Amino acid sequence: MEFIRSVAYINVENLKENVESIFNYTKKKIFAVVKADAYGHDAEIVSNHLEPLSSIEGFCVATAYEGYLLRKSGIRKLILVLGGILKEEVDIFNEFNLTPVISDFYHLELSKKLKSKTVHLKFDTGMRRLGFYFSDIGKLREKLSGLAIEGVLSHFPSADTDKEYTKNQIKEFMKILNLLNLKPNYIHIQNSAGVVYDCPFCNVVRIGLALYGEKPTSDYPIHLNPVMSILSKVISVKKVKKGDRISYNGTFQALTDMKVAVVSFGYADGLPRLLSNKGCVLIDGEKCSILGNITMDMVVVDVSHLKDVKVGDDVVIVGKSKDKQITFTDIANLSNTISYEIMCGISKRVVRKEVK
Ligand SMILES: *Cc1c(COP(=O)(O)O)cnc(C)c1O
Repeated sequence: MEFIRSVAYINVENLKENVESIFNYTKKKIFAVVKADAYGHDAEIVSNHLEPLSSIEGFCVATAYEGYLLRKSGIRKLILVLGGILKEEVDIFNEFNLTPVISDFYHLELSKKLKSKTVHLKFDTGMRRLGFYFSDIGKLREKLSGLAIEGVLSHFPSADTDKEYTKNQIKEFMKILNLLNLKPNYIHIQNSAGVVYDCPFCNVVRIGLALYGEKPTSDYPIHLNPVMSILSKVISVKKVKKGDRISYNGTFQALTDMKVAVVSFGYADGLPRLLSNKGCVLIDGEKCSILGNITMDMVVVDVSHLKDVKVGDDVVIVGKSKDKQITFTDIANLSNTISYEIMCGISKRVVRKEVK
């Protein structure tokens, strides 16, 4: 694989340490959220390393197809499908022993066709996406017979930004649980940002972002290490003259003579084009600014301050180089989005490789 130009290294030790840190803090078992190919980290690599850990109770994916891929890669623990169940998917749920999160009377009726009859029941306490309401409980009671309610859950939309809203959701969820009066194996509402809230009635947490080493808030109390680092290569080094304009549409004009490097990484690899003239990469421990528009496969960076940069040198897109570091959160902040979107936007051309 020496000929692969851009590689995303998946640091499995850091992943496992993050799980340990999260477990030590929450004291609750973890449903590892590995939807969207484990936020771009390769669900097969991530899940197979997590499955043997006793703190990992199971996995969450978005769709039946993702659950199927996880079983194909050898996963045997519980797989929860967050996006519910559609009629075309019943056979896959049965054959691969997937568990749906049901949030709708359609899912509920369809789940009666499952061999296991096992579901998790989701309530909407403020997200206004998936979930039954408190006011549905009467009707739910009549319809639930024949199903095994293994779990009851809800979801926080703003645990990272709105404490009052989140606390009200917790109260609403408790009201729901009291009225329901079921005794499910699992009760869960906390995501990565949600673990800082007191939810003594919940016995598992659903963790995505924090597993991968990014903090949901700047004051997050759990120490985490980044799991993915992305390296690419310099493919050309050249001089540009004062007044030259760089890349498509000439949005950068050199104020002096400069030395630039062309890096084999573009927006098709997942570097947001919004980082044009804004972001940087790291070469040999030095920050190198992005010059002009990022193109599909390449980006031009300033290496005027580097002595002996040459074709074939490593370039850090995300990760550490000597004492400098670029995180997904840094890239997200510069491109006006969240780290989640940058992570899962790293494309297939960037080959994932695990490192021990
Ligand atoms: C994605 C997702 C999570 C994980 O959220 P993080 O913020 O990444 O921890 C938990 N629960 C549900 C329902 C989700 O969709």
